[in-house]
Amino acid sequence: MKRIVLASRPPGKPGPENFRLEEEPLPQPGPGEFLARVIWLSLDPYMRGRMSAAKSYAKPVEIGETMTAGCVAEVIASNHDGYAPGDLVVAPLGWATHGISDGTLVQKIDPKAGAPLSAYLGVLGMPGLTAWVGLNDILEAKPGETIVVSAATGAVGSLVGQLARLKGMTVIGVAGGADKCRYAVEELGFDACLDHRAAADAKELGKQIAAAAPDGVECYFENVGGKTLEAVLPNMKTFGRIALCGMIAWYSGAENPAPAPVVWGAILRQRLRVEGFIIFDRYDRQPAFVAEVAPRVADGTIHYRETVAEGLENAPAAFMKMLEGGNFGKQLVRIGAD
Ligand code: NDP
Repeated sequence: MKRIVLASRPPGKPGPENFRLEEEPLPQPGPGEFLARVIWLSLDPYMRGRMSAAKSYAKPVEIGETMTAGCVAEVIASNHDGYAPGDLVVAPLGWATHGISDGTLVQKIDPKAGAPLSAYLGVLGMPGLTAWVGLNDILEAKPGETIVVSAATGAVGSLVGQLARLKGMTVIGVAGGADKCRYAVEELGFDACLDHRAAADAKELGKQIAAAAPDGVECYFENVGGKTLEAVLPNMKTFGRIALCGMIAWYSGAENPAPAPVVWGAILRQRLRVEGFIIFDRYDRQPAFVAEVAPRVADGTIHYRETVAEGLENAPAAFMKMLEGGNFGKQLVRIGAD
């Protein structure tokens, strides 16, 4: 089997030197364990945090340890009563071709449900649940309100915007590049989408948001921080709400730090409610999410897009590219045949 381990911790943007491919004999499952072959590997922005030793909500990946990841996999040998060879699962097996599990945090996939296997890592998986929880439970979004969504065409943002449209909200996306913005409006049905890469600074982007939302913004689904956050804040209505889901512009420490007095000042003056959330606390909401979203994915109401890298060897390059916006939709790595 092959796996990719953390070779060193990046001080800023991750580079190829931070990863190492290792090869070893296929492990055998012990009592109460199963062995699975990975079919799809999910690359997610949170993995940048796991490469750092800084204190966070989850423990860091150790040097020499397999990089963390959720995978879709097929059980190929089992000593676990609940899993038999041929079972398809979503499991935290890491950046690897195979993995051993004792069933912790594993979910079985029902092949009769008919969804493509990769969807269980995107629109019907962790990013989809994040979008649904953020919109419904954190923002408590309502019909008739205006919402801004950043990283608007990504795994999380694309579903946030579509669910908000289905609720009868006005949806303004912020995404990187004309192609992504066109897709958000023409295929995802957003009312507008603004290109943060084309805007010279936060002020210019802020003016574009003001033009798209002349009456102001009730809800902001925050995925990025940086320039976009600075642009959205002055457009928030009094008593507006922000779901703080991510801040990818700052994960590698590169983009401008929005000055604290600007951010705190806006929260105070505009009496905003800001709530951070980590989806791993919210898996009790999964049944309600699946019940609402799965039928809409199946009947084509909800669209999603994927960027697929081929083979484990290409996972580091795909991950580094994703952190810079090189993905268009959910970033995956195909490891084995479906
Ligand atoms: P995406 O599929 O959206 O991919 C990341 C995107 O971030 C890139 O495509 C890029 O889009 C955008 N981006 C990168 N750098 C910048 C920048 N400097 N300024 C603005 N946008 C940037 O990833 P996900 O949908 O998986 O995740 C989106 C966010 O949600 C992340 O911040 C992630 O950490 C967070 N998240 C949080 C969870 C939680 O539990 N709180 C769970 C899951 C995700 P573009 O080209 O449009 O700029």
